[in-house]
Amino acid sequence: MTRPAVLILLGPPGAGKGTQARMLEETFGLVQLSTGDLLRAAVAAGTEAGRKAKAVMEAGDLVSDEIVIAILRDRLAEPDCAKGVILDGFPRTTVQAEALDALLAERGQQISAAISLEVDDAAMVTRISGRFTCAACGEGYHDSFKAPQVAGTCDKCGGTDMKRRADDNAETVASRLVAYHAQTAPLIAYYKRKGVLKSVDAMGDIDAIAADLARVVRAATA
Ligand code: ADP
Ligand code: ADP
Ligand code: ZN
Repeated sequence: MTRPAVLILLGPPGAGKGTQARMLEETFGLVQLSTGDLLRAAVAAGTEAGRKAKAVMEAGDLVSDEIVIAILRDRLAEPDCAKGVILDGFPRTTVQAEALDALLAERGQQISAAISLEVDDAAMVTRISGRFTCAACGEGYHDSFKAPQVAGTCDKCGGTDMKRRADDNAETVASRLVAYHAQTAPLIAYYKRKGVLKSVDAMGDIDAIAADLARVVRAATA
């Protein structure tokens, strides 16, 4: 890659953004920036932003643009991001997309590709209801689609503390889907207008999708 890549993964909750971002990190040496993970860390640490975000996240609504943009700006300024980044779960509103454009312009960077992961709403509910994560290393799993080789033990780090997200319940998922369609889906047209939109069918199995994505990323960063 000639200049540090800036990749955006777009897609509804449960589309596989986190799963694929971690695979892209390994394949391309990029850094995954998940605003969901950053916000959950802020909630756990009890920071001011975390205290404001907690109830909003539990209800499945979007956290304010102001809070999310500030968190992203700080993270993007850390030295490891010079390797190139995969934005997972950001931007989620037009205001965030415009803020990202300004932030990248300041840094002399540009978007390599915004990749839309295309999935059916029905699949997302099944994916989210079976999701769990290794507390130690963050590796994501699924009860049916990506179970660890030894039940209860992380394939990556051997950790045995698995956690499920408080917002991965049927009620909150419904709100998250509404938020996605109302506020985030319009970004597909936003990036199409900019000429950086790519789409990947994300209904197949994890490895097949990863292979398609890797092809798209190679072409976008060549
Ligand atoms: P997102 O970050 O978009 O919310 P995740 O990557 O966390 O989505 O994936 C949601 C759940 O679905 C996880 O449990 C993950 O293991 C599983 N998953 C991801 N991709 C696929 C796929 N292609 N087929 C089946 N399950 C998947
Ligand atoms: P998923 O993609 O599975 O819905 P995330 O971990 O990306 O989950 O996000 C979890 C929650 O964190 C969202 O429902 C929302 O409340 C909040 N959040 C994450 N990223 C953003 C963002 N860019 N803007 C506003 N809220 C966000
Ligand atoms: Zn682990």
